[in-house]
Amino acid sequence: MLDSSGIRKVFDLAATMTDPISLAIGQPDFDVPQQAKDRAIEAIRLGRNKYTQTQGNADLLAEVADRCREEFNWEDDRGYLIASGVSGALVLAMLTLIDPGDEVVFTDPYFVMYSHLTRLAGGTPVPVDTYPSFRPDAGRIADAITDKTRLLLINSPCNPTGAVYTSEELADIAAIAAKRDLLVISDEIYDHFCYDGPFNSIANIYDNTIVMRGFSKSYAMTGWRVAWCAGPKPIIEKMTMLQQYSFVCAPSIAQDAALTALGLDMSAQQSAYKKKRDMVFDSLSGPFGLVKPEGAFYAFVPAPGGDAESFVAKAIASNVLVIPGEVFSRSNTHFRLSYATSDEKLAKGLEILTSLA
Ligand code: PLP
Repeated sequence: MLDSSGIRKVFDLAATMTDPISLAIGQPDFDVPQQAKDRAIEAIRLGRNKYTQTQGNADLLAEVADRCREEFNWEDDRGYLIASGVSGALVLAMLTLIDPGDEVVFTDPYFVMYSHLTRLAGGTPVPVDTYPSFRPDAGRIADAITDKTRLLLINSPCNPTGAVYTSEELADIAAIAAKRDLLVISDEIYDHFCYDGPFNSIANIYDNTIVMRGFSKSYAMTGWRVAWCAGPKPIIEKMTMLQQYSFVCAPSIAQDAALTALGLDMSAQQSAYKKKRDMVFDSLSGPFGLVKPEGAFYAFVPAPGGDAESFVAKAIASNVLVIPGEVFSRSNTHFRLSYATSDEKLAKGLEILTSLA
């Protein structure tokens, strides 16, 4: 059974509010860069409106493969696929890899889709508690792995906690996976949003990894539905076969624009988001005891008294929209705040939240 009650309750309430301050949105507030827009418009005018090959536009695939060879030192035993968003890539991976009864291990709190998609594929989600620091504890992850584990799913920078895994943490995770030659999916959709150091991928140290990166967050192309994934060739080939019988291909014009986007400098947008992260941490660390989020554009904030349900209700009554932790977790002690909004709205929202602490 798919259950979206937590998030639906919030958005039902939001519909009754006039001009709420929404700190609930999971997409950038900046727009798609002009060059990417121009490329898409040009692609339409040039008649590039037909299906692409199932695995994706050849030029985009070649660029992605070049980048992966350079970044991960990969050989030619890797497969590449352009998908309809990281969501599309996750759907393909889960349906390809999971048999009924298989277990999928991921850290809790987690991106909502992980547990739903695992169940949709007939598998069993195995969330591993990371409270209160949100660090991926190697011992706890190792304890969660059983004979039935099919996949280890990691997400750094993390939605909803903003945790960015260090290279030591990734090495520990890789060592655990290596013991069983366990396949790792690394959801790297927030790779552009790392504020306190460079981004690290587990693909640099562990070969049995499928990397997924998107254009939704890095280039604000959420509605364009395009992402890439890459990993062991036999698996990517199976996912491609499933794409042929499901999504068919990612949107053709979005793929053209994605190729342009890959060459763009987004450092101004990244710096603006670092400033927003700092605003959030400066306001909420004292009153709420917030752990510093190092990446993505979310903070996962302890609710006063560990009661997210009543705090979120209070916040909404004060016109600020945040999401209760239970949407992302088995616990409901925190709330998720997205700072992907204007500095003015964010400042106002933080002032109100602080007054409720
Ligand atoms: N993975 C994570 C961790 C996300 O937060 C999101 C979107 O919120 C996605 C994947 C899906 O992104 P896409 O728009 O590429 O499907």
